Amino acid sequence: MTLLDKLGHVSDRLRAFGDGAVPFDTVIDEATGPCEVVIEGRRTLMCGSNNYFGLSFHPEVIAAARGALERYGSGTTGSRAANGTLSIHRALEREFASFYGKREALVFTTGYQANLGVIAGLCGPDDVVVVDVESHASIYDGARLSGAQIFAFRHNSASDLARKLARQPRGRCLVVVEGLYSIGGDVAPLVDIAAACREAGALLAVDEAHSFGAYGARGLGYAEAQGVLDQVDFIVGTFSKTLAGVGGFCVSDHAALRALHFTARSYVFTASGSPANIAGVQAALALVRRDGSLRDRLWENVRHVRAGLSRMGYKIGPNESPIVPIQIGAPERTVALWQALLEAGLYVNIVLPPGCRPDACLLRTSYSAAHTPDHIERALAIFEAVGRDLAIIEAAA
Ligand code: PMP
Repeated sequence: MTLLDKLGHVSDRLRAFGDGAVPFDTVIDEATGPCEVVIEGRRTLMCGSNNYFGLSFHPEVIAAARGALERYGSGTTGSRAANGTLSIHRALEREFASFYGKREALVFTTGYQANLGVIAGLCGPDDVVVVDVESHASIYDGARLSGAQIFAFRHNSASDLARKLARQPRGRCLVVVEGLYSIGGDVAPLVDIAAACREAGALLAVDEAHSFGAYGARGLGYAEAQGVLDQVDFIVGTFSKTLAGVGGFCVSDHAALRALHFTARSYVFTASGSPANIAGVQAALALVRRDGSLRDRLWENVRHVRAGLSRMGYKIGPNESPIVPIQIGAPERTVALWQALLEAGLYVNIVLPPGCRPDACLLRTSYSAAHTPDHIERALAIFEAVGRDLAIIEAAA
């Protein structure tokens, strides 16, 4: 089989969607606000983005981005390690360090590259990376890029982690987990994970991509919520969710983080975040720091939608989180529901094999502080009408 023939399975898979819309290939023609978009000429309610605080259209974010565009131009045209570090990149690093109360902070061009840079920057072929088996691709890719030995432990099982760590050399092992898992919407048992790492002399990195903003008294993420911020060696996060931009960050008390400025390949060999984007993220971070009502509104919306979906008889994930997975089962039913929701004006995400077991397909829905009660009611009405139509939920007696 040639290199090109090997990709034939992609067109086979796409045929499964028939004449209907194809997930992974949706084009948004216009965004009219954080929660409303236009797809194929149709006004569509967005319940599938990671815009958890809805800051992408906030006037302070837009004004900051516009100002930086005019002050610094459209792009940095260089790497952070060369001509691509502007005063706003440095300022943003200081703001993250001060928000977390950590000594060091590094801003990366994407969250994906933050995981690559931190894991492959710290670890090499003589080291060991231990990850939760359900970790994001960027964590696995960082571990592979490092050349280290990789072990995965059972999802959220601190005891399995402890067993795996017991066989590893002290001081050469990095454990990487997520605060909030992006598909299941479940959180990590960080108290027990941190204890297992301490016991084994392993360093701990927590990716708070989905938990930043939503969890913790100040919005620092799930490590803050669990009271273990001081036991986590590296906190990694992204700008592409609550902060409504593009980029990633890492904060740490270890001086070693600073060395990654000179050595991490995903940091050195790529251009830095554009001025408008970085300034927009600075404004979004300032909002996260000062406006706790954003977090309150997000959680109100989560409770509203979970109550509505459960009442209708949808099977949703057990954990209260901004991510609400709806378990459907077979791929055909899941695709039919996804397509019908989109036609009815509701965008959600779909998870199909190989992202899950063939009998465990689901819709990944996610919510924002910017959804109004009206938006949520509209989404629930669509879920109800379409779900009944397709006999996914039972008609009311
Ligand atoms: N980590 C996790 C857990 C993620 O879910 C994602 C993105 N979905 C990333 C990292 C990568 O972030 P970015 O989109 O900023 O590259």
